[in-house]
Amino acid sequence: MRPQAFVRVAVDRPLDQLFDYACPDQGQPTVGQRVRLTFGRSAQTGVVLEVDQPASIDPARIRALDAILDPGPILPPPLLELLRFAARYYHHPIGEVVLNALPPALRSGGPLPEPRPPDRLWCLKPGAAPSRLGPRQQAVVEALRGAGTALPLDTLNDLTGLGLRHAELERLAARDLLESRAAATQRPAEGHLAVILTLEQRQAIAAITADAGQRTVFLLDGVTGSGKTEVYLEAAAHALARDRQVLILVPEIALTPQLVQRVSRRFPGQVAALHSGLPAGERLRVWENARLGQRGLLLGTRSALFTPLPRLGLIIVDEEHDSAYKQQDGLRYHARDLAIMRGHIESVPVVLGSATPTLETLVKARAGRYRHLRLGTRPDGSQPPPVRCLDTRVHRPDEGLCSPLLDAMRETLGQGRQCFILLNRRGFARVLACDHCGWVADCPHCDARLTVHAAARRSVCHLCGFSERLVETCPQCGQALSHQGLGTQRLERALSRHFPAIPMVRLDRDSIRRRGELEQCLDTIRAMDAGIVVGTQMLAKGHDFPRVGLVGVIDVDQGLFSVDLRAAEQTLQLVLQAAGRAGRGGDPGMVLVQTGHPEHPLMQGLRTGDYPAMVEPLLHERRTGGMPPFGFLALVRVDGPTPEASARQAEEIAQQLRRSARDVRVLGPAPAPRHRVNRRYREQILLAAASRKPLHQTLTDARAHWQRNPPPRNLRVSIDVDPITLS
Ligand code: ADP
Ligand code: ZN
Ligand code: ZN
Repeated sequence: MRPQAFVRVAVDRPLDQLFDYACPDQGQPTVGQRVRLTFGRSAQTGVVLEVDQPASIDPARIRALDAILDPGPILPPPLLELLRFAARYYHHPIGEVVLNALPPALRSGGPLPEPRPPDRLWCLKPGAAPSRLGPRQQAVVEALRGAGTALPLDTLNDLTGLGLRHAELERLAARDLLESRAAATQRPAEGHLAVILTLEQRQAIAAITADAGQRTVFLLDGVTGSGKTEVYLEAAAHALARDRQVLILVPEIALTPQLVQRVSRRFPGQVAALHSGLPAGERLRVWENARLGQRGLLLGTRSALFTPLPRLGLIIVDEEHDSAYKQQDGLRYHARDLAIMRGHIESVPVVLGSATPTLETLVKARAGRYRHLRLGTRPDGSQPPPVRCLDTRVHRPDEGLCSPLLDAMRETLGQGRQCFILLNRRGFARVLACDHCGWVADCPHCDARLTVHAAARRSVCHLCGFSERLVETCPQCGQALSHQGLGTQRLERALSRHFPAIPMVRLDRDSIRRRGELEQCLDTIRAMDAGIVVGTQMLAKGHDFPRVGLVGVIDVDQGLFSVDLRAAEQTLQLVLQAAGRAGRGGDPGMVLVQTGHPEHPLMQGLRTGDYPAMVEPLLHERRTGGMPPFGFLALVRVDGPTPEASARQAEEIAQQLRRSARDVRVLGPAPAPRHRVNRRYREQILLAAASRKPLHQTLTDARAHWQRNPPPRNLRVSIDVDPITLS
């Protein structure tokens, strides 16, 4: 009998362990290779994480693997190290973490794609005179003309959003409009250096490119329009020239078509875009090309972070403050934080870019842990416009709009410029507040605001769980309280009554559903003269519009007083990002913010336009409250089929946590601000600590306890480390 060789395998199961299997007759798989195995009674895909280990259970009971799926490892050691870290740090089962890092087609055991022949690059045939083209063909011609260089099929698809196939391009070639050649003969796009980099930009690029293997984290801190993207592109060009790969993370690809276009044009044939909107087959191909090192630059949303990149040389996290980097279910990771860890593991520099960095990042930069690179001015010398507050206690809003805002809009539209009206409708828990006098409901037991649970008609403290019947009128001024926020649709109707002849565009999750719709919408906005754009925070993303004369912001007070941890910070970021939309075409434009609290320190700060100064009060508050970045939090969520079952289980867990916790405060349980979701009822327990270690120890103990005494099957318990929202 030959000696048995065992391997330990990660399996997509919510269990904190690897599983022992014997090698199949095929041979011994290596670490990072996928295998097929029988788990319980079902066939599963697993990934081998350890080899040559003594069996951890009776060898006689160990089954053999059914098959080895890949010719070699598909997850390289540094990536596996990152995944192991993520499992430990986020207290999530290792098997789920590892399997989730794979594209869905591989997770389910499908084969790696066949290697693809090298890309062909397409360009317009010199002297071709296109006529009688269909709309798709027209779009291809325009994209190629705009690029001014030859492009591969997938870049053309990124630019046009058309889902073109090679056959269509072949037909255009047959009509003598296009020609194609092999990618290998393509040279990097010339002529992009229409801009002369500023001194600050050159210094930033020099600092980033000088970082050979030193794992520095850079904060690239510059107002909107200060040329951060130019810095990314130039730093990326350096890395590509050294034959290294570049990973650029963006918050949401659909929201940043301009960035995708800029990158694709600058590096034709070298860019792959990876995001969840891609069809599964395409996603697999992009992943595989990146893994084989065939594409130099990978641009993607948070999950692109887990793509193997054998020659990784630089990681860029654009708009690092964006909360889209935090995954909100399953493995609740923060892609920015894991990007920093990946940079550390793979010894490459990481660049975090933002005009409004998170407090976490700012504090680390100030402490010297990140290198702070500043772009203080815009290359064209323009300034972001000043922010002015409109006091809604003086100017009572009607359907959300107060008269000085309407006057300013009239004037701006009269000058042939555009007005952007932004409604702050993040998923914050709504506090119970009076729009008329500024009264806000407080918890009698905590230093916290009560939030509205409209369905149950109660106001609730979601720290201690106190609740009372929702009051209908303001105890201070007697006016009726609104329990529901204003919606963009209602605002749009109100605006069209005031400005019946003015073209209007609405931009929110409901108006933008399909891929391509946003591009269309943005084109409409760019083509408009005078016009009004109403929208949510989608409006504030990095779009570049030349004719915005006024940005109006409505409903910031919810953000100022929200119990939610980062609501105030995110509200500042939102207003400043929105302000960055104005005054791109020369004239500075203006920003008006409606508030019932112009004396609030944050509103005062907004007027100075100085972001580092305006976050001082927030930093002070966080420091005294022991909140991040000065303290560390984890949220334990419980959800179940009835309010009673959830509450009972949450109470039990809280008691057990209180017994085991050392140097950790245990708050709650309390109903989650969004208590009922999908007919399930959610409770939460907040853990707060002055350092990470006791927090993680408490969570480790708690999970060990739950694995020994699992909660009833119909109750789910999940952990959110470094939560970015309490709702
Ligand atoms: P950010 O990413 O900080 O918002 P961008 O890199 O998009 O800024 O730059 C804003 C605008 O300024 C873009 O149109 C860009 O082409 C232009 N720009 C950037 N750097 C320069 C420069 N050095 N000289 C002239 N224009 C520049
Ligand atoms: Zn009132
Ligand atoms: Zn309370």
